[in-house]
Amino acid sequence: MTLVELKDSLHNCQRCKLAKLGRTQVVFGVGNPQAAIMFVGEGPGFYEDKQGEPFVGAAGKLLNDLLKSIGLSRPDIYIANVVKCRPPDNRDPEPDEVETCKPFLLQQIELIKPKLVCTLGKWAAQTLLNRPVSIMKMRGQAIRLEHFTLFPLLHPAAALHQGNLRGSLEEDFKKLKAYLDQLDNPPPPTPAAPTASTPSSPPAQMNLF
Ligand code: URA
Repeated sequence: MTLVELKDSLHNCQRCKLAKLGRTQVVFGVGNPQAAIMFVGEGPGFYEDKQGEPFVGAAGKLLNDLLKSIGLSRPDIYIANVVKCRPPDNRDPEPDEVETCKPFLLQQIELIKPKLVCTLGKWAAQTLLNRPVSIMKMRGQAIRLEHFTLFPLLHPAAALHQGNLRGSLEEDFKKLKAYLDQLDNPPPPTPAAPTASTPSSPPAQMNLF
């Protein structure tokens, strides 16, 4: 299945109760289908539901600024949500809604094959980790999973609602940048300490011969 076929298969989806709770359309995801970095939010809000694209409202504008601050822009990444339909009044998605929609997020990840999945907020992190998490404890750290590395970040909407989290969110993006820089320029391997069975490395000059 291709990403386009997956998207088409969800058109007018009726698999969970969000279909009947006032959503305008399914918000599948947008961006570079071969992106090395994918972002995953919680669920569409008012503007996302109207426009059919994730993160186009105020949280999306903040996300764009944060991406720019680390040298990324929307065409570099792919972005999707845990649930593809707007929960009424922007409430958190309910467990049955997450369970119903999660296979489609996993399929998106499988098709895009990002090296890094940056989750925005607690819901996306715990959906991909399959367990409840404390986002404040795990934010800003790379977690190696079987097929990709997870990098949990605070949700931009949280920083908009609680001004004191803005600095923490900026800090998360600085850590993400440091992680990406280190992927591009890995530190040289530290030489193994010589043991009885492995001769010590030759002095640097000998490498010339
Ligand atoms: N918040 C989200 O989690 N996703 C969006 O698409 C918009 C706001």
